[in-house]
Order: sequence, then C-alpha cells, then structure tokens
Amino acid sequence: MAVVSSPNTEQNNSIQPPKLHPAFEWQRSEEISSLNITMEEYVHRVTGAKHFHLSSENTENVFLVAFRTVPMDSSGVAHILEHTALCGSKNFPVRDPFFMMIRRSLNTFMNAMTSSDWTAYPFASKNKKDFNNLLSVYLDATFFSRLHELDFAQEGHRLEFAEPENPDSELQYKGVVFNEMKGAMSSTNSVLWQTISKYVFPTTTYHFNSGGEPDHIPDLSYQQLLDFYKSHYHPSNAVFMTFGDISAFDHQEKFQEQALSHFDKLDINIEVKDEKRYLAPIAVEESYASEESEKPQSHVVLAWLLGHSSDLGELFRAELVSSVLLDNSASPLLRALETSDIGSSPSPMCGLEDSNREMSIMAGLEGCLAESSEAVERLIIKTLEDVVKNGIPYAQVEASLHQLELHQREISGDGYPYGLQLILAGLSTAIHRGDPSS
Ligand SMILES: [Zn+2]
Repeated sequence: MAVVSSPNTEQNNSIQPPKLHPAFEWQRSEEISSLNITMEEYVHRVTGAKHFHLSSENTENVFLVAFRTVPMDSSGVAHILEHTALCGSKNFPVRDPFFMMIRRSLNTFMNAMTSSDWTAYPFASKNKKDFNNLLSVYLDATFFSRLHELDFAQEGHRLEFAEPENPDSELQYKGVVFNEMKGAMSSTNSVLWQTISKYVFPTTTYHFNSGGEPDHIPDLSYQQLLDFYKSHYHPSNAVFMTFGDISAFDHQEKFQEQALSHFDKLDINIEVKDEKRYLAPIAVEESYASEESEKPQSHVVLAWLLGHSSDLGELFRAELVSSVLLDNSASPLLRALETSDIGSSPSPMCGLEDSNREMSIMAGLEGCLAESSEAVERLIIKTLEDVVKNGIPYAQVEASLHQLELHQREISGDGYPYGLQLILAGLSTAIHRGDPSS
C-alpha cells in the first residue's frame, strides 16, 4: 500500500523550500512528478516530531496527525483512547467538539482511526478559514485532551443494571467501544483474522487485538488509559502529514504555537520490533461460535510471515507473488482453491497483508470439514510446488506487473479526499520510520 512512486520519479534533494520555520529542521524534498507533488520532510528540533508535507496546487487541504500506538494487550487501550480524546480538551472543553464541528464546518472529511500500530486523526477542507479552525480543534484534542473519567466510562466500559431502574436486574458491561467490539468480534472473519494474527505474530503488538477483545476491555483501568496517553500522544511519538496548497511554513507556525512549544523531548522510542520466527511450521486448531448448520463450517488457512513492508523491493516482490498466485480465476493458487471440493470456496483471508511492519500472506478454504486440514495443506503446497517447478506463463506475470503499476498510479476511489489517500498510502511507512515517498 505504501507505493506511490513510479519509474519517472525525479529526485532532487537540493531544492530547499523558500521559507523555513526556525522550530523545524528541513531534511529533504523530493519531487514526485507522476503525482504532481513535492514531498518535503521536516523534523521538529525540540521534540523530534516528524512533518511530511505534500506540496500541491490542490486547494482541498488535508491534515493528519498520527501516533505510534503499540498496545501489548487486548484491552483496546488505543481504541478507547481514540474515542475518549474526542470528548473535550483544554480549549474546547465541551463534550464532543468534533460532532459539533461536523455540523458547523465545511470539511470534506473528518475522522479518527485506530490501526494495528497507529492511531490517526485526519481531516480535509477546501476552505482555509475552516481548515485552520479544525486544525485548532485537532491539535487541542490530541495534545491537550481532557480525558475525563466519566468519558472513559462512557466510551470504554462500565457496569450497568440491565434494567436501569431495577437494582435487582443483572449487571452488564456497557460502553461505546465495548459494544462496538462485541459487534465486530461477532463476525467470523474478524475472529479468524485475530486468531491467525495471534499465531503469525507470537510476540509483537499484532499478537493482540488493537480494537479490544470484549473479554479483555473491562481489564483496562482509567489510570492505564492516562499513562498510555502520556507516553504515546507526545510530539516525540507523533507524525504530522499535510497535503495541499497551504505551505509547510504556515502549518508549522500553527503546530508550534498551538501545541509543540508546550513540550520538551520525551525520551522513549515506541516501535515495533521484528517478529520472532518459528523453527518449524506450527499447526493450531481453535473453535468459534457459529450458527447451527448442516454444512461443514471449518476454515482452513495457511499463513506465512514475510519481509518488511517498508522495504520497497520486498514489498514489490510480495505484491507480485500474491498477484500472480491469487489475483483471479486464471491464477494457479486461486484456481486450485476455487475448483477444489474440499471446501465450499476460497477463504476471504486469501491474499497479502502489507500494512503491518512485516507482511504476511494467506491462502485457504472455508466450508471444510474439521478433518480436512491436511488435505487443504497438501493442495496448497502441491500447487506452489508445481508453480516452482513449471513456472508461470510470461504473459501472466506481465499482466500482473501491469496491474501493479496501474494500481500505484491510480490513487482515487474509496470516497476519500485525494490528498488523504496519498497520505494514508505513505503513513504506515512513515510510522515505521521508512521513506514514505517510495
Ligand atoms: Zn471505535
């Protein structure tokens, strides 16, 4: 997902932006002519906060601030914090300034999102005054959040009587994130995904459910939320990304004045380490809650841990392998899975996952009998051995290469503002301290 360059990318590290903000050190600029933007990279001198500015003539300006959030449990701390941070801050003490702004502002996009290893707060607006109002709200919400204990109870978890007026009724857990995750984890695909991740990533943050497991969410205390906020939502752990025709200088003046000048450097280095490798393949079996059915309901999925997603060569090779094997019904592995009668259809897990620090690839079948796991494994391994032995027709590889190239240039769709799509495409690499222009 991090690939936005193309072969005609021109590199020019010598063109310095005309006006530099004294609080920031300019590191480099790179013109990406295929996208008609120049990426400028800065670091805040005192705190070490990063700022990537994608300078463009586009008047729909985009802002995003992201923090590396790498929880080491499934209490949902990063997700609950993302919700609670939006419940009021130093200069905007009202509850939910965000939702008031959504109604009043001319923004084209406002949101907050928790991924497996970052939390991001993006917005976009075509109106400069509106943009700056929203910027003040966002900077205040993220760096000077109020995090009231009642908001934690509201957004995270609390105990309530099943019938509010009846103290004899049963006590139940409630909370916005608690309920959201109860809904999310009732989907078989989410359970399957979390279960596979747990074994593919035995020791790093991806082992855990960053959204929160309903069983573990009540373990999170208010103090743990505050501690996580202090260490993670600090400029020393922040990445700012902006896009559009407002200059980096103008953004930095606001960042400095409204947030960064109030902080010193925090000496912590939050990062994801390389995952430990197994010495031999492991096989695991877990169960999930399903509705009663006559049909077989087992999922059998094989997963492999691959190289770094921020390494452009490794990423491109992994994308090519995934595309050649699994892209369509003519692709050998997908064809083998589609035509097999061991299961009902290819698993929705099939494909490459490249948003984590290290990539993984999966393939399998759903609608299998529990005892079919060895047959599925044999089918997949045999198909891969055939590909290794007999190769792939050149035209098929060429078609995949062409597909990948089109996919990189064509940044549109999803309904997100253009600049935000560019920013999100480079975010994971920026978070892992790679080069997001590549
Ligand atoms: Zn949520």
